[in-house]
Amino acid sequence: MKKFQEEMSFVAIKPDGVQRSLVGEIIKRYERVGLKLVAMKMVVPTADQIEQHYTLDDTWRQVTGEKTIKSYMDKGLTPPSNDPLAITAVILENLKKYMTSGPVIMMVWQGAHAVKIVRKILGGTEPLSSDVGTIRGDFVLDSYQISDAGKRAVRNLVHASGSVEEAEKEIKHWFKPEEIIKYRLVQEQILYDVNLDGLLE
Ligand code: GDP
Ligand code: MG
Repeated sequence: MKKFQEEMSFVAIKPDGVQRSLVGEIIKRYERVGLKLVAMKMVVPTADQIEQHYTLDDTWRQVTGEKTIKSYMDKGLTPPSNDPLAITAVILENLKKYMTSGPVIMMVWQGAHAVKIVRKILGGTEPLSSDVGTIRGDFVLDSYQISDAGKRAVRNLVHASGSVEEAEKEIKHWFKPEEIIKYRLVQEQILYDVNLDGLLE
């Protein structure tokens, strides 16, 4: 069985994060919580790679379409379509344009509860309602309303895996096994070890 500190999450700093010079700030937030960076590269993704990335989970089209319809209805607005798949077709086209517009930083972060910790620090999908103190809450001011009006993807700086299963698929999609580096960080002793003998001289 895997040790709990071996959990991994896939994180991508989207083109707006790179253009806003937030690469260091974003990495800093994941580093300082205690996560370990085990893979990193800069890539200009292709539209095909982006489509595959978002559809690795075959329920994504349906679930995201339904979520979008609900978010319109909750605001008392009429959704652009009542068909979830028609909605996600548009979201996916916009994501392809956005995600292929410039370089993206692809990373794998490892540590206890990596998936949930990464998402907590990132904040909710729509920057308008992302909590203060999160990456999306602190560094960007976009909304679904503005992005839908402009027929473009919401600029929310970073992608992060939503579950452990999603992380496994996404890591495999973007990295070769040999690109994931296995190494020990010295701080892991104080983060995880039960026995702290050897600290005092
Ligand atoms: P994430 O994991 O927080 O990025 O969010 P999801 O996996 O639910 O959605 C992936 C991407 O689809 C988001 O980053 C948005 O670009 C887009 N998206 C998701 N839900 C909506 C929505 O309700 N409206 C719009 N316009 N875009 C959405
Ligand atoms: Mg997601």
